Amino acid sequence: MDSAELRGQLYRAATSPFDIHNPMQALTSLIILTCDLVSADRAALYDFDKTDAGYTPRIAHGLPLRDLGRVAPSSDHPLLQQVFSSKRATSTNGDTGSLGLPLAPGTVACAPCLSDDKIIGLLFASKDQRDPYGEVDLETLEVLASRAAEVFTLAQQTTSQSFLLHKLSLLYQASHAITGTLDRQEAIKQTAAHLLKATSADTCEVFAFDEGKGETSRFRQQLGKSMQQTVVSLVADKMPDYPVHQKVQKELKPEVISLTPPSGSAKDIAMLEAEGISTAAVFPLATRNESLGLVRLLYNKGGHDADEQELELAQAIINIGTVGIQDAIHFETAEARASQLQELSLIGKEMTSTLDLEVALQKAMEQSQNLLKAEAVVLFLLDDNREKLILKASGGARMRIRDLTIRLEEGIAGWVTRNNSPLIVNDVRTNPLYQSAIDGQTGLLTTSVLCVPLQQRGEVMGAIQAINHPRGAFTETDQQLLTSIASWAAVSIDNASLFRDVTDEQSRLETTLMETADAVVLTDINGRIILINQTAGQVFRINPDLAKDRFASEIFVNHPLGELLMDDEITFPTSVEVTTPTERVLYATISEITDVGRVAVMQDITALKQIDRMRSQLLGTAAHDLKNPLNAIRLGADLLNDAELSDQQRKALNMMQRATDSMINLISGLLETIRVESTSNIAYEPFQLHELIRSTIEDLRPLFDAKKQKVIYKPPDESLLIVGHANRLSSVMSNLLSNAIKFCKDEAQIEIKVRGGDDEVIISVIDDGPGIPEDEIPRVFDHLFRGRVTVMDPNNPIDGTGLGLALAKTVVEQHGGRIWVTSKENEGSTFSFSIPRERTPKTGSLRKENE
Ligand code: ADP
Repeated sequence: MDSAELRGQLYRAATSPFDIHNPMQALTSLIILTCDLVSADRAALYDFDKTDAGYTPRIAHGLPLRDLGRVAPSSDHPLLQQVFSSKRATSTNGDTGSLGLPLAPGTVACAPCLSDDKIIGLLFASKDQRDPYGEVDLETLEVLASRAAEVFTLAQQTTSQSFLLHKLSLLYQASHAITGTLDRQEAIKQTAAHLLKATSADTCEVFAFDEGKGETSRFRQQLGKSMQQTVVSLVADKMPDYPVHQKVQKELKPEVISLTPPSGSAKDIAMLEAEGISTAAVFPLATRNESLGLVRLLYNKGGHDADEQELELAQAIINIGTVGIQDAIHFETAEARASQLQELSLIGKEMTSTLDLEVALQKAMEQSQNLLKAEAVVLFLLDDNREKLILKASGGARMRIRDLTIRLEEGIAGWVTRNNSPLIVNDVRTNPLYQSAIDGQTGLLTTSVLCVPLQQRGEVMGAIQAINHPRGAFTETDQQLLTSIASWAAVSIDNASLFRDVTDEQSRLETTLMETADAVVLTDINGRIILINQTAGQVFRINPDLAKDRFASEIFVNHPLGELLMDDEITFPTSVEVTTPTERVLYATISEITDVGRVAVMQDITALKQIDRMRSQLLGTAAHDLKNPLNAIRLGADLLNDAELSDQQRKALNMMQRATDSMINLISGLLETIRVESTSNIAYEPFQLHELIRSTIEDLRPLFDAKKQKVIYKPPDESLLIVGHANRLSSVMSNLLSNAIKFCKDEAQIEIKVRGGDDEVIISVIDDGPGIPEDEIPRVFDHLFRGRVTVMDPNNPIDGTGLGLALAKTVVEQHGGRIWVTSKENEGSTFSFSIPRERTPKTGSLRKENE
């Protein structure tokens, strides 16, 4: 070969175009060129396979690829050792030394495919001729080998890039599908579907530690009718217990076990064999510190096997799945919690809305049982001596439990009540507090218990106990729920006992009212009868039951009680005497009771009235009988007046005359008083008040004049028509005026004032006389009371009987008015009385009025 030929050969090796976007095509062209340039009969290209760390034949020319074996980097073949160490193309010397090399027999040359000074592939060429490859051929082989290296690198880059793209798109789809759902089962299913899509595994199993349920969801890819792959789930009860599962769960790191090459513990491998699985990749389904479960990717025997890249991708999808599943769990918990809270508030409402304690507690226990899903929920209350717990209400489980009583020293409920502290016992058989005897009474087989104290304001009243959790173990959350229920129950118990106290008190009061000797009538704010007691029913001839809820005015028709219990314009308390159809006289006091209404309490004073009448009669008779002999004495004295008498005798006579006068006055006064007080049914007629005052003044004019006193009276502008007894009212006026004249000095001023209102007229007599000492004021209207002013001058005592004001009071009150005095010693007195414009009698009688 000449040098031009040589240069041409090298030039072609270095510059021949290959389609690098189609690596297989490029390598095929390259291998053909190799045979052509170095006159080889056979050629082959090997590339380095990371997974088994050796050189694998990729393409061959002049022989089938399957006839070629792998080349290990550790090969002790001298030619290969030289190629690896020198990184140069090397040839055997004819047949010699070809044995054990690919493409043997014949002369075999090998050139390294170098990239970054690393041997990433090997180019073999061989010919049947015995001469070794010369310098130029080896150089050509080296150039071709490095071009092959380029193609390898490019090809590798493109495949890894497209793999990356594929991986990214898979991850994107997975995260979209998994995190979009808030349903745990759906999240698990989506995770499995994407794992099956991203890997060549035959089965994907997800094992979620779902509160101890320990169930596995097993998924498999299935080809549907439309050739589309669908994921089917096959639920298995329990995941087989491989030792590797414990390890993964503990270390939270994935593990791969397989039959070939055998990896994993002997038991793991034996189990794989038994399940007909060649490889199982086991991943933890775990957040940073919490293990939610396990995922297994299973590769069947005789199928594809796991490769590193797909396991990497699987891990990425599992990471997404973990987040999705955890989100779903959180969402479920939040949702469950929200619905629990809703139910709890319902329980609270129920319990506080009824005052029937038994019903309230019973309902609460039934709902609690439903809420906690426990087999039963029971409520114990301490008895009055705080020695025993009595089962008061229960929900759930067909229990035989009426009136079950346990001692405070007994059982879990006893402990909780004594210590005022909640307790969860999830395995009662090992707990010394548990007493199986109680089960005998309830008919339950207790396994787990949650018990919380029932307390109000720190004081324990009992306990609520939930029996048998549906899945075996009560949690802190259950405890919180039951504690809330217990607080509601405590409030409701408290309310009910308050209510009981109130109703007890009410019925006691009712009994008192009903049975008291006084007549009692109670109305509400609107004047409807709430209660008429027995006495009132009897004296008014009313059936208390029929009168209930009717207006007082309908029951006491035309009777002052009807008005007094309904009229808005009455000031309370007020007292009146009333008569009844049974001819009883009652002294009624009507008062207002805040927020209730009015009450009339009436004492029967018929007997007192009779005694009073008898007393008046007796007095009247005595007075009447005294009057005639007194008149005789007075007449006799008058006759003596004209006789010749010594000074002493005349003095004595005058004394006698004065004494008889005052006795006659007293007796007349008494008789008048008796007459006025004993006749209440007098004829009333209308008259002008002004006329009455004017004529009274005129009648007394001589007395005013005698003491040179000034009387001031300005008649009112309007006409004041009054219905009453003119004569008696005139005597009231006259009494007040003559008192003023009598007690005031000469030249004093006496004024009469009249004020007319809508309801009443007030007449005042104002003097500037001696006034009334404070201690005497309450007594001036009493019968026979005479003040100290009457004897101020012992030599010249002021006449009087002490009956005038008492009589005036009787008359004014008979007209439905009031009389009163305001006075200060040495400054004068003002006597006033009122007369209603429309007469309301102070006493009334149903019978009389009805007639
Ligand atoms: P009498 O006038 O007969 O004493 P009354 O019943 O009219 O009886 O009066 C009772 C008492 O009231 C009098 O004794 C007097 O102490 C006192 N009194 C009545 N009117 C006046 C008055 N205008 N000024 C001072 N004291 C009076």
